[in-house]
Amino acid sequence: MAGVSRLQYTTEMRLIRVMCSGRVDLEFVLRAFSNGMDGVFIGGCRLKECNYITHGNYHALTMVLLCKKIMEHIGLNPKRLKIEFMSSAEGILFAEVMSEFGDEVNKLGPLGKAEGIDQNELKSKLAEITKLVPYIKLAKNEKLASRLENPEEYDKFFTKDEIDKLFSEVISYYIDPEKCQACMTCAKRCPVEAIISAKNQIHVIDQEKCIKCGTCFEVCPSKFSAVTKISGEPVPPPIPEEKRTIVRKSKEKKEN
Ligand code: SF4
Ligand code: SF4
Repeated sequence: MAGVSRLQYTTEMRLIRVMCSGRVDLEFVLRAFSNGMDGVFIGGCRLKECNYITHGNYHALTMVLLCKKIMEHIGLNPKRLKIEFMSSAEGILFAEVMSEFGDEVNKLGPLGKAEGIDQNELKSKLAEITKLVPYIKLAKNEKLASRLENPEEYDKFFTKDEIDKLFSEVISYYIDPEKCQACMTCAKRCPVEAIISAKNQIHVIDQEKCIKCGTCFEVCPSKFSAVTKISGEPVPPPIPEEKRTIVRKSKEKKEN
């Protein structure tokens, strides 16, 4: 509406259209900051006015509230992220909000620099958090699905302590080489091919690729229970390649 009505608003923004504000993933926001954007604005339909049963705008709201706390956790000013709800007919409001946000971001200055964070450090912090997005979404699943009606709840919905705890207790997954029977189930189900897998070879998780989704833990057959969760301590080093071949007990007996 703002464009059709030829309303003036900041020219420093780039519009990305999505079908629903609920489609804006936490990862998209982090990617925008990683790509050097100084601010991210999400415009959604008014709460309670969604035409569908999904009410994606509530999801967008909780995602933004979580992302703001994550930004604080890594030292970024949370004002760089904003969400507003408005109808498509409210072109004037959109133009005003965009211009105000543009001014606010300009006042804050360049991302990271204004906060006193070294650019490389910021990049690696954002990359680290982006890698944890599936874990974060899983850990905060229930809260992210909430429908917040009262704006007074927004600020305290996610707390600093909660987010600090979330990152201090990050879970890693490890395959116990003593228990793995190379059934390959975990490797077939891992969404990011993070499990080094071969027939009759003890499986190993590539911790660099692992996004901590927990699927391997869920699918490893209970008779093996080879995948363990580790929190608050380092993951044991992977078993050396030359020691990964599984010698089946029946085979051992035959040879003897
Ligand atoms: S937790 Fe397991 S299934 Fe998920 S990414 Fe890591 S290795 Fe793959
Ligand atoms: S599902 Fe369990 S037993 Fe099977 S390969 Fe993976 S870790 Fe090993």
